[in-house]
Amino acid sequence: MEIFNKFYKRSIQERRQIIIDTFNHADLFSSLHQDTYDNMIENAITTYEIPFGVAPGLIINNKSYVIPMATEEPSVIAAQANAAKIIAMNGGLTAKVINKDMIGQLAFYNPKESFESILENELEVLFKIANDAKPSIVNRGGGLKKITWDTKHSDNNGSFFIIYASIDTQEAMGANIVNTIMEALKNHLEPLFEQEATMAILSNLADESLVEVECILDPSTLKNSETIADKIQEASAFAQVDPYRASTHNKGIMNGIDALTLVSGNDTRAIEAGVHAYAARSGYYKGLSQWQSINGKLHGTMTLPVSVGTVGGTIKLNPKAQLAHEILGRPTKEELMIIIAAVGLAQNFAALYALTTDGIQKGHMALQARALILDCGATTSELDVLLPKVRNLKNPDKNTIMSLLDELRQ
Ligand code: NDP
Repeated sequence: MEIFNKFYKRSIQERRQIIIDTFNHADLFSSLHQDTYDNMIENAITTYEIPFGVAPGLIINNKSYVIPMATEEPSVIAAQANAAKIIAMNGGLTAKVINKDMIGQLAFYNPKESFESILENELEVLFKIANDAKPSIVNRGGGLKKITWDTKHSDNNGSFFIIYASIDTQEAMGANIVNTIMEALKNHLEPLFEQEATMAILSNLADESLVEVECILDPSTLKNSETIADKIQEASAFAQVDPYRASTHNKGIMNGIDALTLVSGNDTRAIEAGVHAYAARSGYYKGLSQWQSINGKLHGTMTLPVSVGTVGGTIKLNPKAQLAHEILGRPTKEELMIIIAAVGLAQNFAALYALTTDGIQKGHMALQARALILDCGATTSELDVLLPKVRNLKNPDKNTIMSLLDELRQ
C-alpha cells in the first residue's frame, strides 16, 4: 500500500492517522480496563507497557500484509520492514500449513504389561469420552483425531507408558481444550489401569502444528551480489553445526515471531517452548532455517511449529490484540500461523544479511542511540540535537553522552 511508503519518516501522529484511516479501528488508543486485567492474572497492580509498531509490505503467498509487532527491542521493526522490501522485490515468500493439531499427553509411571491391550480395547470409548468432554469443539468440526502410545525408559530403571492424543482445536491455540480432554481420558483410564497417572497435559512441542515457509532471492537485489548468496549459505551452515550460533540464529527468528505472537494476544512462552524443542529434535540443537545458494539464487526455507489461535485466552479481551488482528485483515488461525512463520524467516534473513555485510552493530547502535540518550535524562528536544552527534560517535557510551548533554545544557 502506497500510504505506507517511508512510513518511518512520518510523525507518530501521522502514522496513527494512517492506521485509523486504513483499518477503520477505534481501539488504537484504548488501554486495558482495570477490571479486565485484574481478572486476567492474580495480584494485579497495573499494566506493563511495550511499544506497538507496524512493519508494512510483507508479501506472503501473493498477499501483502502490514505486520503489527509489540517489542521493546530497537531495530526489530526496521529489520522487518527492510527485509519485507527486499523480499517484495523478489516476489514475496510462500508458506503453507502442513498440519494443525495440538498434542496432549497422559503418562503412567512403571506401567503393567496389561496397559497396552486395555488401551487398544478401549480406543472407541476414549474417542466418545473426549467428544463428551468438549462437545463444542466437536460441533465446530474439531476434537480428538488420533491416539498413539509409547513406552520410554527413565534414568532410574523406571519407565513411562505415554499416551499421545492429537486434537484439532479449530481456531483456538487449544491449551485448555486439550487439557480438558486429557483429564477426561485420565479419569476414565486410571480405574481401568488400577493406577494413578503421573499427569495429563498439553505438550508444547507442537510438531503437528507445522508451517513450512520459503523464500527465493536474486542476489542482484542484494548488496555484495557476487558473494552474498555464498556468505549467507555459510552463515546458515554455521547454525547447523554449532549450538552457540544456533541459539542466536533462532533468537533472531523469534525477535519477529514473539513480537507478532504477543501483539496478537497469543502465548509467547508456548511458541518459544515449541520452537526450541523442535530445533533440538535430532538430539542436537540447530538453526531452524536453512539458506542455500542454488543455481545462482539464494533459497531460504524453514519449518517450525506455530501454536497460536485467533480466539481463546485473552485475545478477545485485549483491545490492542483485536487491533492487531484487524491490521492483519482478520486472518484465520491457519493464515495467522503462516504469517508468523513468514515473519520469522524475514527476520532471519535481515539478521544474516546484516551479519554478512555491514555487521549487526552499525544498524543496531544507530537505533540504540535514541534509548541511550533518553536513558541519560535528555528531553525530547535535547534528543533531536544530540542524536546526530551520538550517531557519529565510534563508541557511544553513557559517560560520553552525559558530557555532550552537559555541554548542550550550558
Ligand atoms: P480457551 O480456554 O479460551 O479456549 C478457547 C475457547 O474459545 C473454546 O473453548 C471455545 O469456547 C471458544 N471458541 C470460540 N470459537 C471457537 C472456534 N472457532 N474454535 C475453537 N474455539 C472457539 O483457550 P485455549 O484452549 O486456546 O488455551 C489458550 C490459553 O491457555 C492461553 O491463554 C495459554 O496461555 C493458556 N495455557 C497454556 C498452556 C501451555 O501452553 N502449556 C497451559 C495452560 C494454559 P466454547 O467451546 O465454550 O464455545
